[in-house]
Amino acid sequence: MKSVPPVQNPASPRDIKLALPKRPPQERKRLKKALPELLWLERLINTYSSTLDASCEGLLPWQGLQLPFYCLTLGGSAADKKTPVLLITGGVHGIERIGSQVILAWLSSLLSRLEWDSALQQKLSRLRLVVVPIVNPVGMFANRRANGNGVDLNRNGLVTAEDKVPFLVGGHRIGSWLPWYRGSAGQPQELEYRLLQQVVEREVYPRAMAMALDLHSGFGTHDRLWFPYAYRKKLIGSIENYLALKLLWERCFPHHNYIFEPQSIHYLSHGDIWDDFYLQAKKRENHTFIPLTLEMGSWAWVKKRPAQIFNFAGMFNPQKAHRHSRVLRRHLSLLDFLLSAAIDYREWLPVDEQVKLLKQAAHVLWN
Ligand SMILES: [Zn+2]
Repeated sequence: MKSVPPVQNPASPRDIKLALPKRPPQERKRLKKALPELLWLERLINTYSSTLDASCEGLLPWQGLQLPFYCLTLGGSAADKKTPVLLITGGVHGIERIGSQVILAWLSSLLSRLEWDSALQQKLSRLRLVVVPIVNPVGMFANRRANGNGVDLNRNGLVTAEDKVPFLVGGHRIGSWLPWYRGSAGQPQELEYRLLQQVVEREVYPRAMAMALDLHSGFGTHDRLWFPYAYRKKLIGSIENYLALKLLWERCFPHHNYIFEPQSIHYLSHGDIWDDFYLQAKKRENHTFIPLTLEMGSWAWVKKRPAQIFNFAGMFNPQKAHRHSRVLRRHLSLLDFLLSAAIDYREWLPVDEQVKLLKQAAHVLWN
């Protein structure tokens, strides 16, 4: 696998106590209309500056604007490598803005609770929480899946699929005028991809244990929790960890009905971000990485309101206010559960004989 070139974006140095840009009224107006999630995020950074650290990892130019790629961190210190990390990301596909909104809703709730809830404060001190709510701000501003260069960031990774991928959807190099474009062969990965990789290299790889959740929407009528790989049908080596997590979730939250499965059950693709990051993590000794993707079943919203099929964004996002609110609260338990699962991973991560048994069970379940 090739190595990714370092990010060069000198216009945007990392700055832990971030000075937010003073936006002229015209720019605010444009953002309010096309990217209100960014203003919501900046409001959180401003309001909770004593609780969270924010960094601008880079700037993405678009139609005269410089859209920031923010990374927020809170909880345990960066220096203590024994503290587990939970990485939450959203907005990889710009059209799937509900993912960013779910993250921001959860983060708002978490930050409000942290002001008075000493049990939660104590809990967070045992975890480092890293959140990138908007990975693809240009795509979200322009209401499209790809980034500003027409590249699908979740097809832009370095891994090429070993088994057959579906035509176009699995990633292609025909041209950026078609969706699911991987980018040109031999070119560096897109800036957003490299900025996310920079966050993963800094926050995830140096730690003993990390979990991740990347929020998407647009596949099927059920909410699904997917895990790698997307590049091959053969199950991931650490399948026992995923089965242990599935069983833990189902035991603790039996009335939630996420479908927990490897992505490869449905389709394969080239250049999946989490395949890349997982394969990189595997090279580290004494490091466990458990990335997941939440695919919100947006077709259920279309089924309830078929008219929204005529609106591109309607295929990926709830359009009715009551349904939108329901989606924003629906995943709060899952996100809180992942916080706890990451903190106390030693309590459920299989060891010794359990590894073998869970591996066998996983092969029966998912093969
Ligand atoms: Zn997506």
